[in-house]
Amino acid sequence: MFRLDGKVALVTGSTRGIGWAIAHALAEAGAHVVVNGRAVEAVADRVVELRGAGLSASGAAFDVVDVESARAAIDDLVREAGRLDVLVNNAGIQRRAPLAEFEQADFDDVLAANLRAPFALAQAAAAHMVAAGQGRIVNIGSTMGQIARPGIVAYVASKTGIVGLTRALAVELAVSGVTVNAIGPGYIATEMNAALLADADFTAMVERRTPAARWGCPDEIAAAALFLVSDEASFVTGQTLLVDGGLTSAL
Ligand code: NDP
Repeated sequence: MFRLDGKVALVTGSTRGIGWAIAHALAEAGAHVVVNGRAVEAVADRVVELRGAGLSASGAAFDVVDVESARAAIDDLVREAGRLDVLVNNAGIQRRAPLAEFEQADFDDVLAANLRAPFALAQAAAAHMVAAGQGRIVNIGSTMGQIARPGIVAYVASKTGIVGLTRALAVELAVSGVTVNAIGPGYIATEMNAALLADADFTAMVERRTPAARWGCPDEIAAAALFLVSDEASFVTGQTLLVDGGLTSAL
C-alpha cells in the first residue's frame, strides 16, 4: 500500500522542514519528486541528496509568490516529465506582531505566500490532472486554521483560508478523479520555529497544551501526506487532517 511508483510529485518549499520530509517520503514511496524552494543551491543540494540515496528527483527553483513563474514552472514540468500526479502546496511563511503593530505589507506577504500561491499552483496543476483524469493535491494548513493565537493574525487568516480553498477545490475537482485535502500540523520542530524552540517558556507551553506533551516532527506530517496522495485515499477529499498530538481536541 501507499506506493507511488511512476508518479510525478511537486512539493513546494521542500528544501527543509516539513516539505523536505514530505519530498523524501514520496520519493521513498517510488515517486519522481520535484524539489522546490527559492534558493537555487539548496534545491540542487536536496536533489543530489535524494539521488545519492538512489531515489528519483529533479529541481525547480521558483518563488511561489510570483504566480506567473509558478504556473509556468508547472507547465514546464509537465512538458518535461510528461505528467504531474501530485502537488503538495507546502511553502509558507510566518510574520509575528501584535495587531496594533501589524504592518499591512506583512499581512499581504503572508496571504500571498500561504493562500494566493496555493490557489494559483492548484489551478495550474488541476488543468493537467483533470486532463489525465486523476491527481492529488495536498495543502499544508495548520491548527491555526481551526484555532488562533494572538500576534499572528495574517497566518491565522491564511491558514483558515486554506481550509476553505481545499473544500472549494475538492468539490469542483472530485468528478474528475482529482482529490484535494489539507493537513493541519500542530507545533512541529522546524527552522520556521527556531526562535520558539529556543524559548524554554514557549516549549513548556507547547508541552502543556499538546496532549502528546511534545513538539511533533516533520516525518509525522510526511506520513499523513503519503496517505493522502496515495491511490488508497481515492475517496478522501475536501478534508483537513489535523496532525497535532491532540492539540485541537483539548481544552
Ligand atoms: P520552514 O521555514 O522550515 O521551511 C519553509 C520551506 O518553504 C523552505 O524550503 C523555504 O525555502 C520554502 N519557501 C518559503 N517561502 C517560499 C516561497 N515564496 N517560494 C518557494 N519556497 C518557499 O517551514 P516549515 O517546514 O516549518 O513549514 C512548512 C509548512 O508547514 C508551511 O506552510 C507552514 O505554515 C506549515 N506549518 C508549519 C508548522 C510548524 O510548526 N513548523 C505548523 C503548522 C503548519 P526558501 O526559503 O529557500 O525559499
